[in-house]
Amino acid sequence: MGEWYRRVGGRAYGRVAPGAGGAGSGAGSGTIVVVGGLIGHAGVIRELRALATSDEPPHALLFAGPEGTGRRLLALEYAKMLNCEGGAPVDPAAPALFDDTSLRTGNAEVPCGVCRPCRLIADGAHPDILTLAPGDVLCRPREGEGSHAKHPDSRDIRICQIRGLIDLVARYPFEGRYRVITIDPAERLGRDAAHTLLKTLEEPPGHTAICLVSSAPESIIETILSRCRRIDVRTVPRAEIEAGLMERGVEPALAAAAAEAARGRPGRAIAFANDPDLIGVRERLLERCAQMAGASTAERFDYAGKLAERWRSDRAQVAPELDAWEAFWEERLRAASMAGPDRRDEAIEDLGALKAVVQCMADLLANVVPRAAMELMLLSFPRRTLAVHSEEDTAAYA
Ligand SMILES: [Zn+2]
Ligand SMILES: [Zn+2]
Repeated sequence: MGEWYRRVGGRAYGRVAPGAGGAGSGAGSGTIVVVGGLIGHAGVIRELRALATSDEPPHALLFAGPEGTGRRLLALEYAKMLNCEGGAPVDPAAPALFDDTSLRTGNAEVPCGVCRPCRLIADGAHPDILTLAPGDVLCRPREGEGSHAKHPDSRDIRICQIRGLIDLVARYPFEGRYRVITIDPAERLGRDAAHTLLKTLEEPPGHTAICLVSSAPESIIETILSRCRRIDVRTVPRAEIEAGLMERGVEPALAAAAAEAARGRPGRAIAFANDPDLIGVRERLLERCAQMAGASTAERFDYAGKLAERWRSDRAQVAPELDAWEAFWEERLRAASMAGPDRRDEAIEDLGALKAVVQCMADLLANVVPRAAMELMLLSFPRRTLAVHSEEDTAAYA
């Protein structure tokens, strides 16, 4: 829920710029290396490279998967692959160093990571690469619509923004071969906005790629989904995240703790590695979730009231708590699903609880009375008495 975090001003995941690197200093013991970048997903990268270097790269992609796994960074990789000026064709007459012919027909090295477009994209400074999110980005009021108020806090991606997008893609890119627009989160496309976008996806202008990012693709209209090349972005094995952090200079003990707490999401692991205090906060929150899952209705009402009060006084404080709830039910759901048919009913309840958390987050942003939103969520949770980390759950990430 990085997007959710940004919107409520939370201090946590997704704070590190895409290409962030280099050393920095921070609180805690010794020097903390500030890390960023993509961890894992070698298979997805191979797939994207094959698409980007094909004769007709797809103009519409959907990066579907949970928050924190690297969906946005993968979309940026695709943008780099389309625009990279490195990876010059290899002389076909040169002796074959590889059996794989794709490595000898050029573009083997895309993205090279060092050419001008690659560096600009990594720094978030390429004029043709942009992200469309709820807010004012690309807002273009209709002709003669004099009183179109700005909407920096809007919940949905609006039709005026899609109008702006259509305007933009009608023109040639400023300097790249391709203009790449990432729509994130795509499930927030309003109804009218989605239908307007559809025309562009049906007849995409050349030099354009549109990357939809979503953790809830089932809530995107089918006509849009059917026009997108779907890229599934899954959680990353714990060992791979740990190795990725160590490659970036994170101390082994911290890398192990951050990878463990991140539960398959490299984006979270990076946030934990950059701010180790968050790991402890997270563990405490998950413990509270476990307690509350076993609590009586009265205790839950009480907790909902306190949560609502805190939401009013300091939203940023509530963000990590709801995020922990999401992780808590996600984990339960994963464990129950893996256990097979015996725990099918449990899995269905867990899924219901997970949906209730997501709904609560959406309700809060839509200014539903906080107490009502919190109570509805807490009362949707099944009653469970469980340890936070059982052996079987941990095994799922090994
Ligand atoms: Zn390059
Ligand atoms: Zn607007």
